[in-house]
Amino acid sequence: MVEQNPHRPGRNFTSRTSPAVPPIYLSTTFELDDASYEDIQGTGGLHATWYSRFNNPTVDAAGAEVARLHGATGSMMTSSGMAAISTTLVTLLRAGDTVVAAKQVYGDTDDLLVRDLPGLGINVIRVDAFDNAAWAAAVDKHQPHVLYGETMSNPALRLLDIPAVAKLAHGVGAKLVIDNTFATPYCTRPLQLGADVVVESATKFLGGHSDVIAGAVTFDDDKLGEEIQRRLITFGGCLDAHAAYLAWRGMRTFNVRLAEGCRSAAAVAEAMVAEPGVKHVRYPGRDDHPDAGALVKTVMPDARGAMLGLVLEGGDERALEVLRKLKVGLEATSLGGVETLASVPFNSSHFNMTQQQRRDAGIPDGLIRLSVGLEGAETLADDLRQAMG
Ligand SMILES: *Cc1c(COP(=O)(O)O)cnc(C)c1O
Repeated sequence: MVEQNPHRPGRNFTSRTSPAVPPIYLSTTFELDDASYEDIQGTGGLHATWYSRFNNPTVDAAGAEVARLHGATGSMMTSSGMAAISTTLVTLLRAGDTVVAAKQVYGDTDDLLVRDLPGLGINVIRVDAFDNAAWAAAVDKHQPHVLYGETMSNPALRLLDIPAVAKLAHGVGAKLVIDNTFATPYCTRPLQLGADVVVESATKFLGGHSDVIAGAVTFDDDKLGEEIQRRLITFGGCLDAHAAYLAWRGMRTFNVRLAEGCRSAAAVAEAMVAEPGVKHVRYPGRDDHPDAGALVKTVMPDARGAMLGLVLEGGDERALEVLRKLKVGLEATSLGGVETLASVPFNSSHFNMTQQQRRDAGIPDGLIRLSVGLEGAETLADDLRQAMG
């Protein structure tokens, strides 16, 4: 008599329970059946759960959560935000194609645009993110295949006019790809403003606990989603099931975390305006923000994010001195955690620029970047006061 193979314990677990949270499926492979064979024949196995680099139930649970937050048709998780960005761009661009991209983008995205894409024979044209006329001129002149920008750029917190840039893209049959990491779907749902693909670092606000590196690619056009998924499979930037669980777990509290973070950031901004030694407060909810008015209302209709910039008198050295004295805020790069994270661009995110280059890029001397966490606005304002005092 042939006994059930003891190495197939998974069989004993099929649908016997109904857990409140998704199980962490560590299995790399799944028993094939008629439906999976059919999908392999039909789509190359894009939908079947048969091998975890293609699909995995825990990873899919996290992707479904991102899609829900965006009100989108689909979202696929990636091993990092950079995997989401690089896979998407290399899917949509071929040698000889052109991408028009904002100058103000995340540092490693900049590297991708400056070094990697040109090496693949892709033309890269750069424009100021907030200069609609420059976008229009570049699109007209270069007839690009892709336009790329960030909803809210780091660290100046300027907004991209997504509806206007989407219109320019679609006028020449190009796709608009938006990195929505800073704004998050709590404040901005770029697909609903005309973007074709949203890329995000789930390491930041989506995951929300500074404990997982992950990314997401979100779309409404299934065909476009499948093209990107196909490249994700060949490039191998899939998310691990443990990491996917952490991302899923973080997203369970996304709305309450962001509601509190945005409220708190607005209150800290307000509290710091009149503080001696503070030259300027940069927050998209304030009237003196350069994009205040129609643009803020379109791009961030209900909430203005949990990122905040403080420009101190005394320049970068003073900013660093204050940063070092924080007792609540953590002196660390990254953003979007439950803890407040504070950094100065000149020696971290933008260290590779000269002071003049930073000034030209709209990054003032003495800027502290704050990712406002859940400690409470009064606690944070007190912490900043004692550090400046
Ligand atoms: C962090 C970040 C990324 C990269 O994400 P990783 O998860 O670190 O790969 C991309 N874009 C923006 C705006 C980011 O803040």
